[in-house]
Amino acid sequence: MKIFKKEEPQTYSVKGHSLRCPVCGNVYFWTKKVQLNTTMATFFNLDWANKNATCFVCSDCTHILWFLA
Ligand SMILES: [Zn+2]
Repeated sequence: MKIFKKEEPQTYSVKGHSLRCPVCGNVYFWTKKVQLNTTMATFFNLDWANKNATCFVCSDCTHILWFLA
């Protein structure tokens, strides 16, 4: 996960709830906008959907949370 280490992790909230890592409880994340490739979009049955996603990477345990947005 070295590519994320240059940025300072931040806290985020989704729909008014603080984003918290379900594994370790950490609230600091790195974020990255990603474009889902066709294979992944098909795997998740998202051909109809916007194929952009945002991932939040826990700065402590590196667990990744995905949001389709
Ligand atoms: Zn974590």
